[in-house]
Formats: sequence, structure tokens, C-alpha cells
Amino acid sequence: MTILLNRNNKKTTLKAVPLVAIRDGVVFPHTEAVLTFGRPKSTAAVKSAFRSDRLICFVTQKDPKISDPFKQDLYSVGTLASLERVLETNGEVHAMVKGIKRVHIHEIQNREPFLVAQVIEIPEQAEETDEIKALSKHLTNRFKKAVNNGKSIDFLIFMRLMSGVSPQELADQIAYVLDVSTDRKQELLEIIDVKKRLEAVTKQLNHEVKILEIEKSIDSKTKEKFDKTMREAVLRERKKTIEQELTKLGKEEEEEDPEIKEFAKKINQAKMPPKVKERAKKELKRLQKMSPHNPERSYISTYLEWLTDLPWSVSTPNNTPLPQAAKILDEDHHGLQKIKERIVEYLAVMKLKQKQAKIGKKKKNIAYQKNITGPTILCFVGAPGVGKTSIGKSIARSLGRKFIRISLGGIRDEAEIRGHRRTYVGALPGRIIQGIKNADTNNPVFMLDEIDKVGTDFRGDPSAALLEALDPEQNSEFSDHYLEVPFDLSKVMFITTCNILDTIPPALRDRLEIIRFAGYTEEEKYYIAKKFLWKKQLLAHGLLGNGVKLQLSDKALYEIIRRYTREAGVRELERNLAQICRKIATKIASGNRYSQKLKKKDLHGFLGPAKFTSLLAEKKDEIGMATGLAWTQSGGEVLFIEVALMPGKGHLTLTGQLGDIMKESCKAALSYARTRWQELNLPKNFYQSTDVHVHVPEGAVPKDGPSAGCAIATAIVSAFTKRKTRKDVGMTGEITLRGRVLEIGGVKEKIIAAHRAGLKIIILPKDNKKDMEEVPKKVQKDIKFYFVSHMDEVLNLALR
Ligand code: ADP
Repeated sequence: MTILLNRNNKKTTLKAVPLVAIRDGVVFPHTEAVLTFGRPKSTAAVKSAFRSDRLICFVTQKDPKISDPFKQDLYSVGTLASLERVLETNGEVHAMVKGIKRVHIHEIQNREPFLVAQVIEIPEQAEETDEIKALSKHLTNRFKKAVNNGKSIDFLIFMRLMSGVSPQELADQIAYVLDVSTDRKQELLEIIDVKKRLEAVTKQLNHEVKILEIEKSIDSKTKEKFDKTMREAVLRERKKTIEQELTKLGKEEEEEDPEIKEFAKKINQAKMPPKVKERAKKELKRLQKMSPHNPERSYISTYLEWLTDLPWSVSTPNNTPLPQAAKILDEDHHGLQKIKERIVEYLAVMKLKQKQAKIGKKKKNIAYQKNITGPTILCFVGAPGVGKTSIGKSIARSLGRKFIRISLGGIRDEAEIRGHRRTYVGALPGRIIQGIKNADTNNPVFMLDEIDKVGTDFRGDPSAALLEALDPEQNSEFSDHYLEVPFDLSKVMFITTCNILDTIPPALRDRLEIIRFAGYTEEEKYYIAKKFLWKKQLLAHGLLGNGVKLQLSDKALYEIIRRYTREAGVRELERNLAQICRKIATKIASGNRYSQKLKKKDLHGFLGPAKFTSLLAEKKDEIGMATGLAWTQSGGEVLFIEVALMPGKGHLTLTGQLGDIMKESCKAALSYARTRWQELNLPKNFYQSTDVHVHVPEGAVPKDGPSAGCAIATAIVSAFTKRKTRKDVGMTGEITLRGRVLEIGGVKEKIIAAHRAGLKIIILPKDNKKDMEEVPKKVQKDIKFYFVSHMDEVLNLALR
């Protein structure tokens, strides 16, 4: 044993011990390990040491590939260890070693058959500062964390470290199990200062923990993914089995779900055409396969409800004899003779066509089977309240069919007629199919109200869809976007109604058979009220059969017609009668006295003051005035045209809601006056220093059409010539620049309006004489008619 002096002049002892070079790994003090040796020098050293004091020195090779290393190939710090046990098998030596101390390799000698090292023991720092304690605690926690995150470690070592060991041992034990390279381990071995060693080990351990954490999360993700795939595979397999079972069960399963069962029953009962049935069954199959929680399920069941609820083959029998049909029309409506006749003709043709179609079916003649509803579609044109709807209802009654009515007013979206595609949320069939469903039969009388109010915009053209529905050539295969299968509308009797014809698209108008409702005269209104409206209102207000015998005097009724209403139809009149009934009903119900006979003088109490005075009552014969007749949305009307002259430069101003054609009539009328200055006894340039203002009061209703030409020219001439116009002369007719008076339309409506207004003389174009046939006899008796072909005649009759 050699005594040396170290740097601090302290005595150090040199010890000679057998040396074993380790290729890979480092033996740390405080640790135990089982090592296996194969190289002859190593086995010899172990065996020799085990035989003597069992002490041995392990030093790591700088390069593991060197098989017979010497001093320069070895690190200079190693570990002095004791051999606890040694076992030799098949030329290899296994030894259980226990690291004791760090040693500095001072010298190495080759004392065959092994190396011997002169080592200097490196003393351990014994002092335990607070910092070291804190570092040890921290390191212990980190180690726990590493183990929690999956670091594999001998359980006994873990327990030992957790139960508390010296900081030196802690650092060495952990350094020994760290997952780092041999070089790094060697570096840790060479750190003598305990604090620094603890820090270095902690740093390495932290790094390892981080890696473990990442690995763990990757692990769990892959595990999740794996789990999902596994789950999916299992579920798929299960689904397959369930489906197989279901197919085996077949119909039994169908019967188990009450909804499916119900639909299956409905599909069989709905008497659908084969294609539709096929479609319905396909949808039912889809529904069957769907889970009850699938949101699409409700869409499919709504669709199936529609399909099964539609009256595919349900028709009402249709065999009312014609005379009876005519009788029913008469029963329900007063007057309207021509219209009723026209309807009976229509019904007659329809009946014959249906017979023909039946024969055609037997003979397989397709031409026989076409257009069975009638030659064309009826279109009732007239002001509100003239009975269009109620005649429609009567037709249905006379044919013994259901009546359906939809209003098309304001529709701008094609989908309203033809339905939304099923891909839309809340999609439904269009109004036509909805109507058919409500009717519950496939041959109702279907009234389409207000076809003149159908608009067009970016959402498509509803009139095109209407055309498809109405056209007898196409409507046996009417396609609704929602239904997706064609519905046969050919048995439906469509009736359309409108107030004016001008706004109906020409393509649609072509298919319509126009029937005009001209409006009622006072007498007709009186009879309608007496025979129908009054009874209807009494019934509606519970005033029949209650011992009440309410009577409305004729004079009172006429008063209502003349002074409480001004209309072509009878809607206002009916409303006034309803108001009277309401008031009486209140009196009766509250036990107040009332009179059974209602007279003209009582009306004020029920209806308030009269709303209208006679149109002509306050009018006088005046200069610059003329009475024209027009035809507007609300039927025939009387127009009072006013002309004012002012100093100016020959300008023409027009006011009072006039349409373009009417504005042109004004210009034409002025030009007529200018070309006729000599005949009219006017100065040559009479218009040059004068501005002309033409106004048509009561401007709420838009007015248009050429028929006011006569009246405007009369008013202009009257204004320039200062001759007064007769207030009781009404006129209508288009004029040319030369003063010819041309034929106009709507004669009947205009004459009835003139009669209502109390006009005594009416001037009409000669060519309209033929229309007089339609004018009620009573009116013809009350009014004097003049038929003219030139403005001169008009002026002679109208101007004083
Ligand atoms: P429109 O459809 O032309 O607006 P309605 O058919 O609704 O008019 O008629 C309004 C009311 O007048 C209804 O109660 C109807 O029965 C009644 N009515 C109209 N014309 C007649 C008539 N000629 N005979 C009996 N009642 C009539």
C-alpha cells in the first residue's frame, strides 16, 4: 500500500485491486448488479479477486469495440466494488457485485493474466445542506413521476428509494437506472460534488420524464384509435348478425313496429298506381332500416303519410242528371241566366266526354279518353261579390262532387303551386296537391281564386306550374316537386276566377273559357237580398225558428242598396244585412225590446248615417266636365272627367291614377280638338297660349283603357268652347284623331254602373249595339241609348 499526498496535502491511500474493463454501462457506488464476464482477462480478475478480499475495480471503456483495452482506452474514474457471489458456467462468469466507492485510477499494470489498478478512493462529501435535502426530495418526486409514467424499475429498489436513502445513494441509484448513454452515465459518475450530481441527475431524469409523458400520450392515442377501430369492427359484426336475424324473421319484424305496420297497411289500401306503390314500398324499406333516433325518419314518415293519404283512386260518383243540375243552379242563385245556361252546356259536354272515355277504354281508343273534364277550363271574371265563388259551390253540389277553393292572390313562388323539393327543411307539397288531399277525392270541383293576382319573380313563374296543372293535355301526369311521383289531375274540374283579364299571362288566358259576371242592377240586388241573403243572415245569426219573425221592408232594402252600398256585387249589401241581424240578436239575447218589422227609418239606428248620396245629386251642368263610363277591377264605374284651362304654353297635364292608354286617349282627344278648330268655332291657335289640365277624381282605383276617349274629348271641347255639358249624359267610346268613335268592351258592366248612378242618357259606339242583348230589360227601359259613329254626334248630344 502506497501513501500519497493529494492536492490539499491530505494523505491518500493507493490501493492495488484487480481491474475489469466494462464495454457498455457503468457500475455506480451504492448499487448492486449481476454482471456477466466473458473476456479472459475479466474472468481471471473476477475469479482472483473473489478468492482474495473480493474487492475489484470496474472501469468503463471509452470505446466498447476495443477487446483488450489498456489505460489510455479506459476512463480515469471507476467504481470499487465487492463481489458478493460468483458463478461460472460455460466459460462465462456471472458475478453479483455491489458498488462501494468512486475511485480514481492512478496506475494500471498488466500483471498477467489480468490488469491491476492502483486506485485512490474518492471520499464522499458527508455534509447534508438544506439545498441538498430539497434537491433530494425533488429528485425523489421526479423519480416517482417517471415510474408513474411507465419507467420500469426493480420494485425493491423503488421501495428502498422511497423509504429514504442518503442523497449520495439516491443520486447514484437513479443515475444507474437512467435511460441514457454510457458516456452520459460516466459523466455522472465523475461528478464528485453531491449537489451538482443531484442537479445533473435531476436534469437527465426530467428529460426522461418528458419523453415518457410524450410516449404515454402517443400510446393512449394509438390505444384510443385502436379501441375505436376495434369497437367499430365489433359493432359492424353485431349489426351484420342482427340484420341476418331480421331477414330470417322477415315479416315478423315488420309487424313488430306499429308505425311500419300501419304504413304497410295504408300502402296496400291506398289503391296507388303501380309506380307510386313501388316508390312507397321503397321508402318504407328505408324507414324500416332506420334507427328510431335518426332525424331523417320523421321526413320519411311525413312523406309516406302524404303518399298514402292522397286519394289516388277515390272518386265521387258523378251521375246527377242534367235537368237536376240545372235546377240546383237555379235554386242557389237568382238571375245569371246566361251564365247558368253556359254552365249547363259545359256540364253536358263533360258528361258526354266521360261516356266517350269509357267506351274509349273498352275499345282502347286513346283519342276517346282525352280531356274528360271538359273542353277548356272555366274562368269567371267579375267584380267582388257577384257570385263567382258561390256559383262554383253550386256546380259542385249539382255534380255531387266535393268543392275545394284556394286563393292564388299574391303568390310569386312556383313552389307554392308545385311544392318544395324534399331536400328543403319543412318541405311540403304545393297548394294543388294539398287541396286534393283536403278534398279526399280525385275529382273535386277545384276553384283557383284570383289568378289575375299571380306574380312572377326570381323564385320561378307560378303561372307556368298552373298551366301544367290546368292543361288537360298534361295534367294526367302532374308532377309536384315534393311528391316526386306524378298525380293524375285529369278528373279534377278546375274553375278559375279573376277580377280583370289584363294581368293574366296570355299563355294561361288562352286555355280559359271566359264567363263574365257583369254585376247586378238594383232590382237584381233586391231579389238576391230578399230571396237569399236575408234568409242566410237570419240563419247565421240564430234568428230563424226562435219565434222571431223579422221582416225588412222593401223600402228599407232599396235604401240599403242605394245609399249604404256602391258596388257591382252584393258583398257590402250582405255585410249590412249581417250588421242589422247582429244588432237585433244582441237585443234579443239581452232581453231588450225590438221591432219585428224593420223600416227605412230604422236603418240609421242599425247602420249609422247613409254613406253614399246619389252620384248625380250634387252635380250640375258645367263647362269643362264630362261623364264617362269605365270598367275597373271592381266592375263598371262612372267617371267624372274635369278639364281646366290656364294661361300657358300649350302643355297638357294629366292627374288621377290614369294608366298609359288613358293618357294617350287624353293626347288624342286634344289633337282631335285642334284638328277640328274650324267646325268647333275656335280661333286657329286657340291652344298655343293655354295649358290644359285633365283630371279624373276618385283616384283610388287605377283606371285604364281607351274607352274614356269620347268623354275626355267632350270635356276638352266644352272647356275651350265654354259650352256646358249635360250632367245626366254618360258616354263611352274610343276616338280616332279624325273623330271616329270606335267599339269598346264591358258594355254591360258599364251600363249597369250608369244605371246605378242614375244616368238618363248613354252614348255608345254604333258597333256596340249588338251588346245590348245582354243588358237587363229594366235598364234598357230606364235609360235612353244613342249609338254614334262620330264625335260630332257626341258633342251635339252632350253639350248644351
Ligand atoms: P265572388 O266570389 O264573386 O266575390 P261570392 O260568390 O263570394 O262572390 O258572393 C258573395 C255573396 O253573394 C255570397 O253569399 C253569394 O251567395 C251571394 N250571391 C252573389 N250572387 C248571387 C246570386 N245571383 N244569387 C244568390 N246569391 C248571390
